[in-house]
Amino acid sequence: MDINGISRIVKISVHHGDVIDAVTVRFVRNGREESTEQWGGQGGILTEFNLQSTEYITSIKGHYGDYYGMLVVKSLKFETNLGTFGPYGKGGGISFELPAMNGQIIGFHGRSGQYLDSLGVYVKGIHPMDRLKAGFQQFKTEVYDKKPELFGPLEKGQWPKYMLFACCDSRVSPSVTLSLQPGEAFTVRNIANIVPPYDKTKYTGEGSAIEYAVHHLHVENIVVIGHSKCGGIRALMTYKYDGSSSTEFIEDWMKIVFAAREKVKAEHGSKSLDEQCAICEKEAVKVSLENLKTYPFVKEELDKGTLKLFGGHYDFVNGAFETLEI
Ligand SMILES: [Zn+2]
Repeated sequence: MDINGISRIVKISVHHGDVIDAVTVRFVRNGREESTEQWGGQGGILTEFNLQSTEYITSIKGHYGDYYGMLVVKSLKFETNLGTFGPYGKGGGISFELPAMNGQIIGFHGRSGQYLDSLGVYVKGIHPMDRLKAGFQQFKTEVYDKKPELFGPLEKGQWPKYMLFACCDSRVSPSVTLSLQPGEAFTVRNIANIVPPYDKTKYTGEGSAIEYAVHHLHVENIVVIGHSKCGGIRALMTYKYDGSSSTEFIEDWMKIVFAAREKVKAEHGSKSLDEQCAICEKEAVKVSLENLKTYPFVKEELDKGTLKLFGGHYDFVNGAFETLEI
């Protein structure tokens, strides 16, 4: 199969019974659809599947082994960015897996006779924006188009009950880990989920977000959420802070919760660095919660009882979420 000019695979036809009898692939080359010849024999039943316009194959899994003295592919399963097709064939034998490793399978090469004897793949990298477009398409099909009652009212405004502070860390998106729907949580993400103290000249980013959440959205809860293996907290625990500086911003930023580092070093100095960091992740949340009280409009709502502050910690190593006692 010549993969020159192929933009995507549109259909795969599999003839299968005890083993994989044959495979045919339909694809788009330079804007026109073409098919490969049928790789294999005439036996088996035919199953065909079409790929959507934003769908691409991410992995092929299956088994191969002896079948009446021939070495053949005994089962095949196709995984895409949107779902799974198969397995076809009865399996047994030795399992194999051909993952595209963050790319897409754009073509195949194989050997065939009476049955499909072997199969290999051609992999193409994915344009970074195509990955996002495919992700959006999945969200649109599975969530957006299915919940007009959720997205309709959001056109008029947002009424979140929560303001969240979470880390920038790519592993801790609260929308994902806390199953939050669009409209539920007004969220600030920064290095190590820090709330700086009230300061109209230094921290206008966080300050304006808190002002908007409290004054205009009237959120009922502000939750600061720390997390396991936080790189910012580890940096806080290991930087020298002796006047020298090795970063342009991070050391200064982390200094906002310096009190947490000092407390952990004083009370848990004999523990391992990993243990100290784990404790500091929670202590830093407490410092941020205290800092929140320095905002006059936060204090006002707290005194009225219309706003509450909470600390949380998400541990992705053990798969746990806890409320911190403060
Ligand atoms: Zn972090």
